[in-house]
Amino acid sequence: MNRKYRKTVIAGNWKMNMLASEIKPFIEQLKENMPKTRACDVVLCTPAVMIPAMIKAGKECKVAAGGQDVSKFEKGAYTGEVSASQLADIGAKYCIVGHSERRQYHGEDDMLVNAKAKALLAKGINPIICVGESLEQREMDLTMEYVAYQVKAALNGIDATQLRRCIIAYEPIWAIGTGKTATAEQAQEVCEGIRAVVRKIYGARPARAVSILYGGSMNAKNAYELLAQPDIDGGLIGGASLKPADFATIIAATNQE
Ligand code: PEP
Repeated sequence: MNRKYRKTVIAGNWKMNMLASEIKPFIEQLKENMPKTRACDVVLCTPAVMIPAMIKAGKECKVAAGGQDVSKFEKGAYTGEVSASQLADIGAKYCIVGHSERRQYHGEDDMLVNAKAKALLAKGINPIICVGESLEQREMDLTMEYVAYQVKAALNGIDATQLRRCIIAYEPIWAIGTGKTATAEQAQEVCEGIRAVVRKIYGARPARAVSILYGGSMNAKNAYELLAQPDIDGGLIGGASLKPADFATIIAATNQE
């Protein structure tokens, strides 16, 4: 982390878990376990239908609500889709785009991720743009080339002012939901590389200011070491964000100097 230049963000990705009725008790437990002062923004990305309940419950302890996906279209005959205006209208402040599960199960490509990020920015929602390599790509030593391509494609046509609203999440696919975490060195190396890609496109200042998160089996035990890395500005957390005490411990790990 480098709190002098950029925001630290701890974002939970609940995926298709939990019920709206479980949010209030979850937030109460989170509050009990969370440090009174904290050095990060906290967001929980829920299924879209649960965002209003998250906003209501999260208000008191400053937990923002986010979506997990958005349509690239503004409105119209796209059954089942949720637009950026609709997310903004119910109060979502963040939204994940390009999660590897969307890429894998819904065939999303980098161009679509770019269009979705732009749709969110147009409505004032902060996109959390996910990138990350597969195990095969890592083993073929293609990690940085692949991740650099994903970052460039996702940011195509986004100007420096809009970049300030973007968060990039480095999530190696082989570490998501597997219990296999990238080592702090591996995660730092790629996050530093992502910052270098951003620097090449936008220059030194915007690159210094962009928050880059690590995601992939981050938990209460490994968060402190991962967050101690200079280019890791927070976490995108799946499994551990469903357990209030563990999520609170991760939040507390951002208080380190
Ligand atoms: C994720 O879904 O973005 C994620 C990182 O999941 P997990 O923490 O469970 O690996």
